[in-house]
Amino acid sequence: MNFKYFMPTEVYFGEDVVANNKEVLGPLGKKALVVTGRTSAKNNGSYHDIAAALGELAVDFILFDEVEENPSLETIEKGSRLGKENHVDFVIGIGGGSPMDAGKAMAVLIKNPELDQETIFSGEKFDHLPFVAVATTSGTGSEVTQYSIVTSDKEKIKKNLGQSVFPRVAFVDPKYTYDLPYAITVNTSIDAFTHLVEGYLNTNATVMSDIYGEKGFALFKDCFKGLLNYELDREFRKKVMLASVMGGIQIALNGTSIPHGMGYALTYFKGLPHGLSSGVFTIEFLRSFKNKDKLNRMLDIMEFSSLDELEEVFEKLIHLDLDITEEEIKDYARTFVSNKEKLKNYPEEISFEQILAIYTKSLLK
Ligand code: NAP
Ligand code: ZN
Repeated sequence: MNFKYFMPTEVYFGEDVVANNKEVLGPLGKKALVVTGRTSAKNNGSYHDIAAALGELAVDFILFDEVEENPSLETIEKGSRLGKENHVDFVIGIGGGSPMDAGKAMAVLIKNPELDQETIFSGEKFDHLPFVAVATTSGTGSEVTQYSIVTSDKEKIKKNLGQSVFPRVAFVDPKYTYDLPYAITVNTSIDAFTHLVEGYLNTNATVMSDIYGEKGFALFKDCFKGLLNYELDREFRKKVMLASVMGGIQIALNGTSIPHGMGYALTYFKGLPHGLSSGVFTIEFLRSFKNKDKLNRMLDIMEFSSLDELEEVFEKLIHLDLDITEEEIKDYARTFVSNKEKLKNYPEEISFEQILAIYTKSLLK
């Protein structure tokens, strides 16, 4: 029953949470760097709400709206330069995981002007400017995690920045997702589900983290129905956003497991969206466990009589069209197992051959 529990983010969940709680931004400083993707934040109302709140508080801000999907270290440096030149006191990341993660990295680089995209990975932990997250997808949970996943073109891979940047405040308003297109809704919902699964069936799982996992699975019982029936109404949006926050808290506590680590190569080399790149391994990951106790509890909560039923749902939601060879798969598997850190959250012994089998069965069906 021993556990450590740490979740320092102040989370505001529900409709109009930015306007109703804007005063929490006041003490963070006089000038903010607002970080977004190219268009969606301006269309879904989130940028407008933040700009209005800052205006009413007389907090000045400067906008960096150039974050691409899977943000590169170059983009992060560019935004950081803008923040340094303007002497900002805090950073607000608005968007899906990409702008939120990029904003977290900028909060570190602005606070430590001597750092650059090489030295930030030295292993040393650095302080950061206060960071505020405004989530506009229901998937990554980045609004409640300390992680920032960045793309290194030099190393040809996506990786964790290795710094700990928990948002000071997270605004989670489902209304920003009401018009999220179906395909992005599926991809990001699968991401949220994989966080729940990988955080739950995890070496670090505790009685506290299981609470989030089990509640998240109960929400997904309905969310899967919404996705399969194209019923993306407000009730669905609220439930999947809540499940996404719960998945985020789970991975903040426990970390993800092997599907996430295995999937980064698919995003980098094949352009597969993040949620699908992990989700494509979920079923084989679940089949790989010898101890089925927790797996069966998870299936019971979602009212699936077997893993095959969950697989049917995944087959309806994920349509892969990957051009990939056995040789490429072997390369990914070799690179993946060469980093033992990536295997430590998997609660049983797992060999290179088993990892290769998960890759092969999932990708060469
Ligand atoms: P994303 O890459 O942030 O955005 C994907 C697309 O969705 C973009 O085209 C974006 O448009 C659009 N979009 C965002 N919100 C929208 C809305 N409300 N309505 C319409 N379109 C919208 O997608 P994501 O899946 O949320 O984030 C993926 C990234 O998060 C990956 O880099 C992944 O590695 C990372 N991640 C981080 C964590 C963590 O704990 N930090 C966990 C999991 C994943 P715009 O570009 O115009 O905004
Ligand atoms: Zn993820």
